[in-house]
Amino acid sequence: MSAQGGSSIVVVGAGVFGLTTAVRLAEAGLKVRVIAGAPPGETASGVAAGMLAPAFETALDPPGGASLPLMLAARDLWPALAERLGVALDRSGAAAAGPAGWLDDLEVRLATLGLQPEAVGRADLEAWAPGMNPVFGRGLMTREDWRIEPRLALAALVSRLTELGGRIDHEVLSAEAALAIQAPLVLATGIDQRLSRLAPELAALEPIKGQILHRNDRPGPARVIRTEGAYALASGGGLLAGATMEAGRADRIPDRGAQAGLRSAIAGLFPSLPTAGWRTRVGVRAASPDGLPLAGCSGREGLFLAVGARRNGWLLAPLVADIVTAAVTGKDGGPWASRLDPSRFARDDGEGRA
Ligand SMILES: Cc1cc2nc3c(=O)[nH]c(=O)nc-3n(C[C@H](O)[C@H](O)[C@H](O)COP(=O)(O)OP(=O)(O)OC[C@H]3O[C@@H](n4cnc5c(N)ncnc54)[C@H](O)[C@@H]3O)c2cc1C
Repeated sequence: MSAQGGSSIVVVGAGVFGLTTAVRLAEAGLKVRVIAGAPPGETASGVAAGMLAPAFETALDPPGGASLPLMLAARDLWPALAERLGVALDRSGAAAAGPAGWLDDLEVRLATLGLQPEAVGRADLEAWAPGMNPVFGRGLMTREDWRIEPRLALAALVSRLTELGGRIDHEVLSAEAALAIQAPLVLATGIDQRLSRLAPELAALEPIKGQILHRNDRPGPARVIRTEGAYALASGGGLLAGATMEAGRADRIPDRGAQAGLRSAIAGLFPSLPTAGWRTRVGVRAASPDGLPLAGCSGREGLFLAVGARRNGWLLAPLVADIVTAAVTGKDGGPWASRLDPSRFARDDGEGRA
C-alpha cells in the first residue's frame, strides 16, 4: 500500500526525525498530522548540540559512523533543506585540539577514512577559542563538519509544516489509540517504547543518556572544538560543552557523578574556566546495534519507522526523511534505503518470517 498526494498520514513524534519527515511528506502533497507528547524543544533533538559532523563523528564514534559516505550523503541534503526552512547553516568547519597522542591518533583515523584535515597552529586555536590550554600547540581542522542551531531549526520545521497545511497535536499516544488511527502511521518516537507493540523493531533500540553543559557567562568558541572526551561550541549566546554517553540509561535526571569525565575534559581544554556555573541539559538518544537509524517500512502494513538516531539525529534527519517519504509514497528510497531497513535486526523464526 502506498499513500499518494492528498491522502492523510500521522507522524508520531516532534523531534528532528518526526518533524523533518513530516515536512517532507507535506512537501510530497500528503495531509500531515503530527502527534507528540513533548513539545519539540523538550525532546532529545532540542537538547542536542546540532553538529552535522560526518568527519569527526566517523573518526571519534565508530559505532555511529560506520559509513562515512552515508554520513556525507545525509549532510549534503542539508543546504537545500536549510534554505527551504530559512535557517542558517554554519559551514565554517570544526577543529580538534588536545593531548598530542590523542591528536596524532585522530589524524591517522581521519587519513584512514580518506579525509585530509588542515593542520592549524596555536594562533588559529587561540583566535577561535580564547583561553584554550596553552599546552595545545597545534590542531586539526576540517571543513566537512557543519552545524545548525537545533532550537531555531525545530521552530523553523514547525513553521514550514504549518505553512504546508500540517498540524501538531500534543498528546501521548497509547498503543490502543495508535491502532485506532485510520491512516498510515510514521513512528518517530525516539527511545520511547510505548508503541513497541505496534512495531517489534523498536525493541532493538537501546537508550544512551546524554548530559550537556551550558553557561551564559562566557561566549563559546568561534568554531566547534573537539578535544579528548568533549566538544565545546557557541550556542544561545553562551558556551555549550558536551556530552556524556551513558549507555543503558533512559532517565533525564542530571547526574553530577556521571559528568566527571566531561567536566575534566573541558577543564583540560579551558583551564581558567570556573568549575561552577554550568547548567545541565539532558536528552536520551536511541541507538540501534549498528548505530544507524531504522528508516522505512515496518513489518506491519501501513506502519513506517524513523527512529534510532544515536549521536547523529540532526546530521541524518534529511536522509531518513527522504527514505521514509519514498517508502510511504511507494517510490525508490535511493542508495541508502537498504542499509537503514528497519527489518535488519529482526530475528528469523526459522520459517522465513521475522
Ligand atoms: C546531549 C546530546 C547531544 C547531541 N548532539 C548531537 C549533535 O550535535 N548532532 C546530531 O546530529 N545529533 C546529536 N544528538 C543526537 C540527537 O539529538 C538525536 O539523535 C535526535 O534528536 C533524535 O531525534 P528523534 O526525533 O529520533 O527523537 P526525539 O528528539 O527524542 O523525539 C522523540 C519524539 O517522540 C515523541 N513521542 C515518543 N513516544 C510518543 C508517544 N507514545 N506519543 C506521542 N509522542 C511520543 C516525543 O514526545 C518526541 O516528540 C545529541 C543528543 C544528545 C542527547
